[in-house]
Amino acid sequence: MGEIYDVVIIGSGPAGLAAAIYAERAELNAIVIEKNVVSGGQVLTTYEVDNYPGVQGIGGYDLGMKFREHADKLGAEFVEDEVLRIETEGKIKKVVCTGDTYRTRTVIIATGAGHRKLGIPGEEELAGMGVSYCATCDGAFFKGRTTAVIGGGDVAIEDAIFLSRLCRKVYVVHRRDELRGAKSLQKKLLSLDNVEMVWDSVAERIEGEDKVEKLVVSNVKTKETRELEVQGVFVAVGITPNSASFEGMVEMENGYIKAGEDCATSCPGVFAAGDVRTKALRQIVTAVADGANAITGVERYLTED
Ligand code: NAP
Repeated sequence: MGEIYDVVIIGSGPAGLAAAIYAERAELNAIVIEKNVVSGGQVLTTYEVDNYPGVQGIGGYDLGMKFREHADKLGAEFVEDEVLRIETEGKIKKVVCTGDTYRTRTVIIATGAGHRKLGIPGEEELAGMGVSYCATCDGAFFKGRTTAVIGGGDVAIEDAIFLSRLCRKVYVVHRRDELRGAKSLQKKLLSLDNVEMVWDSVAERIEGEDKVEKLVVSNVKTKETRELEVQGVFVAVGITPNSASFEGMVEMENGYIKAGEDCATSCPGVFAAGDVRTKALRQIVTAVADGANAITGVERYLTED
């Protein structure tokens, strides 16, 4: 029989890494299971982070690496594996992965969230051929070209600002006449000469043979359609939680794992931290706070157990 951990942390974005740091400082026997060898979650593909205290204007990748280095320096243990399910019967839980099974007293689910899809014709067919979900990853392919960003949240605005530095022209297609993202970002976006806002419009379909050639949008108020000649379409319409492996094990709400600020789920000894849990504000700073709260919950559970 292998080792029994105090806590298995699933995911190595800001929430998982903060939990790893707090676990090391609390001298818990912890392991972090990460799907990809490069830690960081969504922060890795963020061009610039300007609202994490103490490190103004840092690149997302650099911030993610700083979190990871911090956890490494404190001695956190990482393993690359993919979680299939958690068996929660009895005091010792089993985290069953494709590679191994990890036995533990508690679990922190910090699997974050992925990109939401639009579900329109052409999106799937032209994915990787001009349709992208990550401007910082793929933006460089569109130097001097015309692109469209779909969405009106922080990610859409940041993507459009980033692309405006590379592209000849950037359309921002938003379904309302008001953006959702941070006011400071909105101001910056609306001041850019090569950005055209396409308000009150939804994407109908993406057209092209082997590569994106056109984005067809329709105005929700006038019902008029418009064809935008673009070579790239960046979809930034929000996130969807990475929680499928935990369905039926913990209570969920719209796919998010139901948990309050203490990160405790409906299953005793199982905690949810970061973007994967129900919460009002999904930011790096709140994900990091969850990591700390979840470890406090773990310590309490272990002493009461
Ligand atoms: P988000 O804030 O949920 O925004 C999604 C945007 O897409 C909204 O403008 C929404 O329109 C639009 N949308 C959703 N479904 C759509 C559809 N089917 N068709 C067309 N448009 C659609 O998501 P996000 O921008 O990906 O950000 C995710 C989370 O990370 C947020 O909590 C965000 O605040 C946070 N974040 C923060 C920062 C930062 O602070 N710098 C940076 C990145 C991300 P409506 O506005 O009409 O709903």
